[in-house]
This record gives sequence, structure tokens and C-alpha cells, in this order.
Amino acid sequence: MKVLVGAGSCGFAAGAHKVMDELEAIQDLQIDYEITGCIGMCHLEPIMEVHEGDEVFRFVKVMPEDVRPILEDFRNYENNRISTEDADSLVKQPRVVLKNCGVINPEDIEDYIKIGGYEAVRACYTSKTQEEVIDEIKASGLRGRGGAGFPTWFKWDAARKSPGPKKYVVCNADEGDPGAFMDRSVLEGDPHNLIEGMMICGYAIGSDEGVVYVRAEYPLAIRRLEKAIKDAKAKGFLGKDIFGIKGRNFEMRIKAGAGAFVCGEETALIASLEGERGMPRLKPPFPAQKGYWQLPTNINNVETFANVPWIINNGGAAFAKYGNESSKGTKVFALTGKVKKGGLVEVPMGISLREVIYDIGGGIVGDRPFKAVQLGGPSGGCVPASLIDTTVDYESITKTGAIVGSGGMVVMDDTTCMVDMARFFLDFTCKESCGKCTYCRMGTKRMLEILERITEGKGKDGDIELLEELSYKVKDGSLCGLGQTAPNPVLTTIKYFRNEYEDHIYNKT
Ligand code: SF4
Repeated sequence: MKVLVGAGSCGFAAGAHKVMDELEAIQDLQIDYEITGCIGMCHLEPIMEVHEGDEVFRFVKVMPEDVRPILEDFRNYENNRISTEDADSLVKQPRVVLKNCGVINPEDIEDYIKIGGYEAVRACYTSKTQEEVIDEIKASGLRGRGGAGFPTWFKWDAARKSPGPKKYVVCNADEGDPGAFMDRSVLEGDPHNLIEGMMICGYAIGSDEGVVYVRAEYPLAIRRLEKAIKDAKAKGFLGKDIFGIKGRNFEMRIKAGAGAFVCGEETALIASLEGERGMPRLKPPFPAQKGYWQLPTNINNVETFANVPWIINNGGAAFAKYGNESSKGTKVFALTGKVKKGGLVEVPMGISLREVIYDIGGGIVGDRPFKAVQLGGPSGGCVPASLIDTTVDYESITKTGAIVGSGGMVVMDDTTCMVDMARFFLDFTCKESCGKCTYCRMGTKRMLEILERITEGKGKDGDIELLEELSYKVKDGSLCGLGQTAPNPVLTTIKYFRNEYEDHIYNKT
């Protein structure tokens, strides 16, 4: 019998450590338990699984007092047993990025090796040219999962072709959107998969060094990634002469970021890596030409790299079978807000918002009417109930005025004030502006002041038009994505919920 406890940040927040303490305290049953990452059902944590042969018995919302009765009679114990509906919602999700999260012990490299870990990079080293690896990524149709959706193969190829005495692979793990925790969960639940994805990129572009820029607010993710790097080195999977292949080298290290949202922008991230204040730089030159220390650098986020080993193992064509014409593969979303089953979901691109929110998310808390969903965090926008059948792909979501973004999905019901929601996100971007551009620095401040007076019932005639005018000026006059997208929540709420702005202004609500 094997016992697994969900020990991601969501599990610990719900009390997994108490379940683990209880498992250690029960001496007479002689239970050896293991930890695992977030399986995606954060609303059901703490989760404990009992594995007996090929059978898995999953128990949810486990409290310390439930542990002994579960272990003594796990076949018949009905309290805490996962419902069929919840179990089904997991089965509906094809898993590429999250395939090992909630399955393996992220702190045990042997678990990763047992399921074929590091075989994809070994195959690249021993039987593929750099061009063949990039062709496979091209065939997959993988686009950057950090927000912009730029074709991954194109960036890799540009870095490969850029001349330089040294090249770098950088992983952007500076996930800062309110409501987003996709990358954190991958780092906590499957750190070796990220390492392997970065190693494959390193081989493809001709780099022997990778850096993971991760927010310092993710201590568990950092600790597990540090251990994974150390264990991979000890096994000869990282460092010098990898797999005993002379001259095949790849070193990796972690840089903890200090929590500035703008450092998610790649040139700001590079500045921060170099020890400077994290402020975006003018492009071109692009990082693929002159990045970290002015050398060719490829930057992708955690989810993008985490797709790579699967693509190499299964082929780009298999990945491209998921999704639709423009957007291939799967996408991980952090489903939060007024949805019944909040957590981490992985869905094929091209699925509708309705399917994500109702079929997987279980619908709205208290069965209240669905009002809107905020996609892409503070850089994104809201999609109203009338567009709930919009498909989740880069082009369709962009047409609504929102963006797929990195994957934050905040669901709102009919009690949410959309003007207040826009104020919340603008308050965030205003505070996170690095201050380099006047429109971003001052424009967002002026917009925030207007939104504050509107929500306080002190709005004036002409405020909506002024907000719109300022929005376009901030978008046009900003250097980086933070400023260029900061007005999106305001513009989309005005577009779809103008009546709420008018109500605040003219009826002083
Ligand atoms: Fe800084 Fe904003 Fe300009 Fe970006 S747009 S460089 S965050 S001031």
C-alpha cells in the first residue's frame, strides 16, 4: 500500500501538514507516505490517496482525525471519498503540462526517472540535430504560454542563428498576475520536467547555461527546484559531460526575483538578472540577438518549457492534435473567483469558456448567474456572459478585447461591480509601473483617480469618455506590455458594462 498526500502550496494552505503529522504519529499502522504536487483540485485539499496495486482510492478535505479511519478501511470508507463528478472533471482534462503533478513525488528524482524522465533530452543529445529539435517544436505549433503567444520555434531558431561566444536559456517564473498560480504549481509539482525542457532548449539553441528567474514569494517552488537541480547534477543529468557524453554540458541556477510585476517583461527580467533595477529596455535588439549580458538569450515561461519533453517524446504532430487551427496543444488555467471548483485545469485549446467554467469548474457558487470572466489578469480584460461560448484560443479571446495571457481566469457572478473590478486591476498596474514612461506612470494614476471617484459615487459627466481617451493614450505611449495592456480591464468593462459606469455617475450608486 502506498499513501500520497497533496503537498503543493494549496494543500499546505488547507492543512496538509497536519495530515502528514498524523501519518507520522500513527506508528502501529506502519505507513510510509509520500508527498506529491497539486493535482488541480485545490478546492478539495487536503487530498490523500491510497494506492493498492492498480487501484487508487482518493479522499478529499481530509482532516487529521480522518486519517486513521481511512487507512483502516479505505475500500469501504465513504466519508471524504471524492465524488464521481469531481473525479470525472479530472478525467476530462488531457494532461501534457500537468501529467506528473499530483502523480509523482517532486522531491524524488527516481520517481521522475521511473516514468521516462530525462529520456527526451537524452534522445535529443544522441539522435537529433538542433534543427530537428526545432522542427519538432515547429510541428507542434507550440506558442509561448507566458501571454504573448509568440511561436516558440521561431524564438529558438532566432537564438540558434544568433552568433555569440555564449548563449543563455532563461525561464521566466516571475508569475505575478493576481489569480494566477499555474507556474508555481508546475515548479512545486514537477520541477524535473522544467529542467528537462530547458535542457532541450539549450541543446537546440547551442547554450550551456540556464537560469530560472522565480519570484521570491514562491519559497516551496524554489526549494523543490533547488533540490531537483542538485539531484539531477548528482545523477550526471546536469553539469559537465551529461549522460557521459563528452563535451555535452548544461549548468542551471536559480535567481529569486524581488517581486516586481514588471520583471515578467523579458527585457526587465534581464536587467534584474544583471543586477540592475528591473526596467524594460527598448527592442530591438531582441533577447535572441542581445539578451543576458548582451549575448543571445532565449526566454520562455515555465509552462512553455514544461510542454517540451512531452513534445519530444510524443512528436509535434501529437501535440498539434489538441487545439484548433490557430492555437495548438493544451493550456493550463488557474480557475478562481466565484466558481464552485476552483483550481488548476489543463484544457485543449479551442474548448469554450462555458465548458471550462461549467463542465470543469462546476458552475457558479450558489448557482448565481454568471456575469463575466477576467482573462489574463491585469493585462487582460473581461469577457461577459453573452460571449461565454467564445473558444479559448489566442485569436478568439483577443477579438473580445481580453487576452489568453498566462492563464489567470477569475470568474465573477452577478454581485460583482465591474467598475470596482476594473479599479482593482488598474490599482495593481499603477502601483507596478516602473515609472519609465510618462503615460504609464502618470496616465494610469489619473485613470485610477477617475475610477476611484466613480466607485465612490462622485463621478462626473464626461468621466467615461476621459477614461477611454486616457486608455488609448496610455496604450500608445507605453514602452512595454505592462503599460500597453494596463487599460484593457477598463476598456472591456466600458465596452460590455457601460451601464454600470453610468449608474455610478448619474444615479450615484
Ligand atoms: Fe515602465 Fe510602464 Fe513604461 Fe513599461 S510601460 S517601461 S512598466 S513605465
